[in-house]
Amino acid sequence: MSDARKRICILGSTGSIGENTLRVIGDYPEQFEAVALAAHGSSRRLAEQAAEFGARWLCLSGDGAFETPDGARVFRGPQGLEELIEASAPDLVVVATVGFAGLAPTLRAIELGLSVALANKEVLVSAGELVMDAARRRGVAILPIDSEHNAIFQCLEGRNGAPLRRIILTASGGPFRGRSRAELAGVTVEQALDHPTWQMGPKITIDSATLMNKGFEVIEGHHLFGVPVERIEVVVHPQSMIHGMIEYQDGSMLAQMGVTDMYLPIANVLAYPRRLVNRRFEPLDLAALGQVTFARPDLEAFPCLGYAYDAVRAGGTCPAVLNAANEVAVRRFLAGEIRFTDIAELIAAALGEHRVAPAPDLDAIAAADAWARAFCAARAVAPASLAKRP
Ligand code: MG
Repeated sequence: MSDARKRICILGSTGSIGENTLRVIGDYPEQFEAVALAAHGSSRRLAEQAAEFGARWLCLSGDGAFETPDGARVFRGPQGLEELIEASAPDLVVVATVGFAGLAPTLRAIELGLSVALANKEVLVSAGELVMDAARRRGVAILPIDSEHNAIFQCLEGRNGAPLRRIILTASGGPFRGRSRAELAGVTVEQALDHPTWQMGPKITIDSATLMNKGFEVIEGHHLFGVPVERIEVVVHPQSMIHGMIEYQDGSMLAQMGVTDMYLPIANVLAYPRRLVNRRFEPLDLAALGQVTFARPDLEAFPCLGYAYDAVRAGGTCPAVLNAANEVAVRRFLAGEIRFTDIAELIAAALGEHRVAPAPDLDAIAAADAWARAFCAARAVAPASLAKRP
């Protein structure tokens, strides 16, 4: 019986996607087994998860004390993530870490020929070509967890190689939809963390408020589906019911809908290519929803979305710089060091100053990432902008 279960390794098990993955596994214990779990710093939660799910391979990648549970093997440090994957030899690696740190373990999983369920969008943003090339060479499936890409992935089933006219990514618009650039200057961290439709971790919630998240998703879609960014459109859809759409050359459009809960895309990739019988959600009540609406994004108020297109067109190390600059800028905003609108300012400054390396390897990407981090950490913002803080 246990032989038939899919053995899952979760990198980032104590984060929002990790916890949701364990909800799915807990709901279908006859189908899935959490064999390996990795967290960065939440050692107590990691120990609880290990006890509840009986995971025998564990990793704490950050510093801090961690007592090895009975019968478990514990790996430490960033290198520990790769050792964990290798030792546990799972059927599927769920990469739910945040930021650039997910790249090396993702490449390791691919190298080992393991299927990857990818929630960490920074991996494809920074090194999409490298990751997708490695996956193609090794014949490894990259299954997208990000709700928009999971939607498109589902829409593409039965495609038979037909060319696409467009991919359409929906955006809720975040908590500041409809505000002007001037109105955004004074928003607080608390307001930015209050997302209208999705419950997520702090980094991605701020990325949703700036629309950088949607910009990353354009880059992600470009790599996952091999579509030029010119054919990837973003449309604001505040109800977040349609998660993604495709259009074929014949004008037919396909959309995927569902409740706004990451449980669904996670359940989809864990079960892929089969489908689970849903035990958690009532069917979507379309009549109660009433209407769905669409609008164009405001690139003047939310310039980060435009920077993502610019970074892909500039190519080379630019997307890695975009990602690293954003990570530092968001951290500084959350720490109260800079204003909300300074996030875009810092990213634009980093992209403007960066010397692009074409066709970068992993070392060149890591160097560009480190350069952008140092640049954005050291860069002063206009003092007048801080004086205006409420
Ligand atoms: Mg998304």
